[in-house]
Amino acid sequence: MKKNASLLSELDSRPVAASVSPLLDWYRKNARPLPWRKTRNPYYIWLSEIMLQQTRVETVIPYYHRFIASLPTIPSLAAVPEEELLKLWEGLGYYSRARNLKKAAAVCMEQYGGILPLTYDELLSLPGFGPYTAAAVASIAYGEPVPAVDGNVLRVVSRLCAYGEDIMLPSARKSVFSCLLPYMGSAPGELNQAFMDLGSSICLPNGAPKCMLCPLSFACTAFLNGQERLFPIKRAKSARRIEQRTVLLLFSDSRVLLHKRKEQGLLAGLWEFPNFEGDASEDAIRQYCRQMGLSIEKIRPIGSAKHIFTHIEWHMSGFAAAVSERKEADGCIWAEHAQLKQRYPLPSAFRPFLQTAETELLRAAENNPG
Ligand code: SF4
Repeated sequence: MKKNASLLSELDSRPVAASVSPLLDWYRKNARPLPWRKTRNPYYIWLSEIMLQQTRVETVIPYYHRFIASLPTIPSLAAVPEEELLKLWEGLGYYSRARNLKKAAAVCMEQYGGILPLTYDELLSLPGFGPYTAAAVASIAYGEPVPAVDGNVLRVVSRLCAYGEDIMLPSARKSVFSCLLPYMGSAPGELNQAFMDLGSSICLPNGAPKCMLCPLSFACTAFLNGQERLFPIKRAKSARRIEQRTVLLLFSDSRVLLHKRKEQGLLAGLWEFPNFEGDASEDAIRQYCRQMGLSIEKIRPIGSAKHIFTHIEWHMSGFAAAVSERKEADGCIWAEHAQLKQRYPLPSAFRPFLQTAETELLRAAENNPG
């Protein structure tokens, strides 16, 4: 094994050329039997690609089935009320993905007769479609020979070719795209998925590739140089900001107070349990509620929870409180148990407190029937 080979900033595509055929053979024997691989329906393939962004396959599968059962076609997606759409998406996170699905469906209705457009370039013009999603749909659904470069593909190609550029740079993504383009051949959808599967099952991130199991080890420059743990090259991520928050479950007459977030920014337009920045004392919580015109009768802590967003971590302290009178408050509604379950989409950041809310509402409803 040759050690200390210099890092190459030019992408030498020869290892990719040598890899295409064995990679396709490997994929055809080992492809995971995922539900969206049993269809050529472009809408279902598009939906799966959007759901899989930043989300694990195991998490996506039940959402995928539920979504296509409720909204089986692009016209049904274009027509669905936003709250119903977000309820279907509840818990998947990154809710702009769901909103963009609906926006893109509207464009399909207006400009493409209710179907997805048929080319990579046209797909790219739709809301929520970047180069990766457009290429994945175009190659898998339509067989267009265009590389779908996601994080898995960047990592595999970076190691295969011992590519010395920072793969987070847009220029590196373009180079990987150009490197793969001549090899897309007659099975572009399979080749794209093969790279993705290899990256998610064997050529794993965080310095832990399973090279001994890899069908491409014979051609992999990083492996042959004993440098597989050096790649991919990535600049250090900036640390997430930690934000303390106080979350309130406010109950009155078998209902819990929900607040609608602003239409812009983090968790835009979603419902939440009222919350504010800071790890507040009970006195501060009483003061906060008074500003909403609510008077607390009893209050108790219900534990803490953490939620990680891309750039922020919320460290939350939860409290449950009974308020004396069910007054209307700005941007808020009082939800019954069934509405909390079925109607109002609550982001997963608040899930740790959901069980307490449901238990409390059911108990109150039992004690005060009718
Ligand atoms: Fe990745 Fe190792 Fe395979 Fe190279 S040999 S592609 S580093 S798993």
